[in-house]
Amino acid sequence: MKNNHVTKLQIDLNAASFNLDYFKSKLQKNTKVLVVVKAFGYGSDAIEIAKHIQNDVSYFAVAYSDEGVALRDAGIQTPILVLHPQIANLQLIIDRCLEPNLYNSIILNKFIELTEAQKLNDYPIHIKFNTGLNRLGFKPNEVNSIAEKVNATNSVKITSIFSHLAASEDKKEYDFNLHQISLFKNLSSEFEKKLDYKPMLHMCNTSGIVNFPEAHFDMVRLGIGLYGFGNENSVTNDLKNVITLKSVISQIHTINKGESVGYNRSFIADTKIKTATIPIGHADGISRKLGNGIGFVSINNQKSFIVGNVCMDMIMVDVTSIDCNAGDEVVIFDNQQTIEELSKNYDTIPYEFITAISQRVKRQITC
Ligand SMILES: *Cc1c(COP(=O)(O)O)cnc(C)c1O
Repeated sequence: MKNNHVTKLQIDLNAASFNLDYFKSKLQKNTKVLVVVKAFGYGSDAIEIAKHIQNDVSYFAVAYSDEGVALRDAGIQTPILVLHPQIANLQLIIDRCLEPNLYNSIILNKFIELTEAQKLNDYPIHIKFNTGLNRLGFKPNEVNSIAEKVNATNSVKITSIFSHLAASEDKKEYDFNLHQISLFKNLSSEFEKKLDYKPMLHMCNTSGIVNFPEAHFDMVRLGIGLYGFGNENSVTNDLKNVITLKSVISQIHTINKGESVGYNRSFIADTKIKTATIPIGHADGISRKLGNGIGFVSINNQKSFIVGNVCMDMIMVDVTSIDCNAGDEVVIFDNQQTIEELSKNYDTIPYEFITAISQRVKRQITC
């Protein structure tokens, strides 16, 4: 079905490739790259991104099985790591040639049971260790019991052993990162001694790639960096912007002194102003926290702040000093700095802001 909602998220695939190359330039030649395309490619379009870069990466990762199935349905044949598979989806993972992260003995046992019942051989699995994030993962002292289980069956083979840094972007947590890296080195070398083959090792997300070259191991997991964010300005400035959110003015209003704008009349004019109504609201990903002068858009290259509460489907913005008409273009963001500023204005981070752009907003490929 054609989506004629005028609010559009434009996705610059060439910018994503540029960013991929930027991070590759920080790696040793033989270090592999996994690109994380979970959450619709961080709110962009996982399928278009994956199609565009599939020949330049070794792996994709998604959070949930359905996200991997969507990539397979689109014809992506690259190996896909499912970071958070659920027991109910393990058969689906096998059926669609996805590769599970197995993070505790319950899910490991269940997966071995399934693969044995189907007489599979060497099905690729990934073992995750918890080295301090305390989210998902085996404890470092479980190496022996995992190795025993896996060595006792031909049905699975460990493709990789991995862990995740808790604060790779955080300069004040430098020592904690080093502690995690050293735990990981120890447990993986202990693990390797118990196997007659060598799984890949990986630990770094985007800011890990930048801050911990000594922890690149065999592969890195690039997420937000691909979409143009480096967790610090010096890196972000070197990256290209991938996503641009635009809309169009629906209507202009003159608001006289004493009149209100929007739900609950949270704005009352103390002088005559002019507003523009824009067809984007909290159902599109513009948080209500951006209402009442916290958030802004850009019209004719001028900043125009949100007036009153954000509605589900619309916002009203102050265009008193901007020469504009219904039908004119509105830029919500077209660079990473604006995304960072908007995120900061309501105490969040670009990760949350960009993944919140809802599926109602039409995606448009611009490369
Ligand atoms: C999301 C995720 C990544 C990517 O992190 P970025 O900070 O976006 O690069 C890497 N590894 C795991 C386990 C993740 O969940």
